Amino acid sequence: MSELIDLRSDTVTRPTPGMRRAMAEAEVGDDVYGEDPTVTALEERVAALFGHEAALFVPSGTMGNQIGMRLVCEPGQEVLCDADAHVVTYEMGAAAAIFGISTRTVVSDRGLLDAGALLAQVRPRDDWHLTATAAIAVENTHNRGFGRVQPLAELQELWDRTREAGVAVHLDGARIWNAHAATGEDLATYGRLADTASVCFSKGLGTPIGSVLVGSAERIAAGRLWRKRLGGGMRQVGVIAAACLYALDHHLPRLGEDHEHARLLAERLGVDPATVETNMVVLDDVAAPLVAEAAKAQGVLVGRVSPRRIRLVTHLDVDRAAVERAAEVLNGLLDR
Ligand SMILES: *Cc1c(COP(=O)(O)O)cnc(C)c1O
Repeated sequence: MSELIDLRSDTVTRPTPGMRRAMAEAEVGDDVYGEDPTVTALEERVAALFGHEAALFVPSGTMGNQIGMRLVCEPGQEVLCDADAHVVTYEMGAAAAIFGISTRTVVSDRGLLDAGALLAQVRPRDDWHLTATAAIAVENTHNRGFGRVQPLAELQELWDRTREAGVAVHLDGARIWNAHAATGEDLATYGRLADTASVCFSKGLGTPIGSVLVGSAERIAAGRLWRKRLGGGMRQVGVIAAACLYALDHHLPRLGEDHEHARLLAERLGVDPATVETNMVVLDDVAAPLVAEAAKAQGVLVGRVSPRRIRLVTHLDVDRAAVERAAEVLNGLLDR
């Protein structure tokens, strides 16, 4: 059988030959001693890209988000976010389990940021009864919102009004690269609207591991201690940082292709193109388990989000021919 076309997630990519060469050739040192030149180069480059003073290389987006939130929220205080946010849905209750951070959620329209709705929930720090709101977490692009891009005007409003309210903003930018590719906005534009931001290399950028947290020099220095406490201090990890640097050079510039592929897939499957902002396509009102099983038998893996909903994600390992093939298989299965 020919190779599987895996549309379950953009995390399924495998390092390319070029990336593997960069990894093999990486200069390394012990990063816990701060002596891995490749990690340091990556941290400096990512900090500059997002217009922040400093950056910290972490093994996963979850660790980046959790340390990021801890840096802007004390135990016993709360972080506000939308009810479908990755930080409260897919991170195993880490904010509460590890840091004693309380979270409060606001229901959103498919992840769309509503600055006003979040700000209306902010509770003051100087009250004797209320749990103080320390930060608001924003996700861009939004995972459970199927790759939705947050409007810049809304991000700006959130930033301006949180300044007045004395509340911090943490950006879960696991897929901020996709927002950048979709809108053409600079990464620094998104970076300057957050106090801390976590960005992933293991999604659209196609590395096997790796995320980076950016923030002020002071916050990132504290973050370095939290990373070690959590067991995230790594040694000759320049082999991974080299993959991330390679991805910035070679994979970031091509990310728009994934979006074109998603639009093509939507077109072939008769999905409303307005719902496809980046690299995800959603099929609603389908018998998800049946379709997923039947597609798998024909070499196409799809994401089952719920019994009636399927998610298709385009990425580095899915070329145009694979998209055409997947559309053909799915069209043969869908009763449309
Ligand atoms: C994937 C993802 C993360 C991080 O996940 P890890 O598996 O821990 O790297 C964080 N936020 C969003 C929105 C994600 O999609």
